[in-house]
Amino acid sequence: MYCVCKEHVELAIDKFVDEYEDAPDLVNLSKTKFSAWTPPERCEWCEGPAEILVV
Ligand SMILES: [Zn+2]
Repeated sequence: MYCVCKEHVELAIDKFVDEYEDAPDLVNLSKTKFSAWTPPERCEWCEGPAEILVV
């Protein structure tokens, strides 16, 4: 699972496919609320805001 900015979505998808050998689901963090989990504010690979959850 990766929380990434828009620029790193493709990188996250590549890594996800490498790791799990399956296509990920993309969740827009700004449009989704989680009751039991707070997503990180920062991208996995840069200081940009985490906008997409790749899971
Ligand atoms: Zn990023």
